[in-house]
Amino acid sequence: MDIFKKCYEWEEAKEAIRRGIYPYFRPLDGTEGTEARIDGHRVIMIGSNNYLGLTTHPKVKEAARKALEEFGPSCTGSRFLNGTLALHVELEARLAAFMHKESAIVFSTGMQTNLGAISALLGRNDVVCVDKEDHASIVDACRLGLGEMKRYVHGDLDQLDRILAKIEKDKGVLVVADGVFSMGGDIVDLPRLVEVCKRHGARLYIDDAHSLGILGKGRGTAAHFGLEKEVDITMGTFSKSFASLGGFVAGDADVIDWIKHYARSFIFSASLPAPNAAAALAALDVMETEPEHVERLWENSRFMLKGLRDLGFDTGATETPIIPVIVGEDERCFLFWKELLEAGLYTNPVIAPAVPEGMALLRTSYMATHTREQLEKALDIFAKVGKKLGIIGAAKQAKEAAAVR
Ligand code: PMP
Repeated sequence: MDIFKKCYEWEEAKEAIRRGIYPYFRPLDGTEGTEARIDGHRVIMIGSNNYLGLTTHPKVKEAARKALEEFGPSCTGSRFLNGTLALHVELEARLAAFMHKESAIVFSTGMQTNLGAISALLGRNDVVCVDKEDHASIVDACRLGLGEMKRYVHGDLDQLDRILAKIEKDKGVLVVADGVFSMGGDIVDLPRLVEVCKRHGARLYIDDAHSLGILGKGRGTAAHFGLEKEVDITMGTFSKSFASLGGFVAGDADVIDWIKHYARSFIFSASLPAPNAAAALAALDVMETEPEHVERLWENSRFMLKGLRDLGFDTGATETPIIPVIVGEDERCFLFWKELLEAGLYTNPVIAPAVPEGMALLRTSYMATHTREQLEKALDIFAKVGKKLGIIGAAKQAKEAAAVR
């Protein structure tokens, strides 16, 4: 049997392209943060993870430009050997201090951070428990590690409690959860999670990719709940609020040192290029000295959440700048995405397996730098297209009728 047979016979994407509703890999001609150009026309960008809008911040751009001049575009080697710059070491020290942890280590992407850090910790005799809505990089990391993976239903900490109770006491246990879930935008119930982990002697690893720059005045989920000491390891990415590329984990010095020597995605991969390290450092400076960006982000997010809910859209259980607009069927979701784009709004359609089957959604996310005018225009477009496709209207009327009764 030809191993390529499945590829030649795979029709799903080709069929969607033929029908003009294929939404992925669309090249942007340009992006200036809150707006982008696609096929020559301008659209409002509500589909990026640039939460604080720092990709256009002059200090961040200047830092990247300067580092490019000084160090060039690549370190051409692993951190282990010739790829460590003083800039990496400085960034790690600054991140450790920012996260109130002893130590931190920087990887070349967030995906590599989870893959390397989690798999390095999982020995043969260990068990890792993950939320079913944790990011794919966490699931892949657990598959890569030598220990056993167990998954609990999203947010069901009673189930986690039962799973942990059954694990033999001679096994090491790690629980990994997203701080802010990347599709639903809901925040992990950290106080309860900490309590459950403590009771069973499990260590806790929080992926703060979507929490840094957002929660806890920018310092993430643990800071938001005042539980920084109780979270053993925090992971973050630079590809979102930090306006760069890369990732890190922060925790006890001995644990970070172990990861540094055992994380294969750290050792066997070239290090973070200097312009990315410098941009992340500059973004960190901005987060520490310009709190207004986090405040603006929350103002904008609250405005959009209220606006979308008032229009009658189903926005699930979000509490953050990630606001899903739940549509249901894949095809309807693609159609909605297409009409919104044509009307000037860039969103991201998300289907299974990234979300449960039948729960296709448009993932929208907001930035500190969106203007009120842009957001009002976005709501107008949502209202028009949502009504045209019957995504709002019927649901809103049913809700109003129920309220009258
Ligand atoms: N964790 C989470 C929760 C994410 O959403 C992402 C990226 N979307 C990653 C990790 C991986 O980060 P990166 O894009 O930096 O590889």
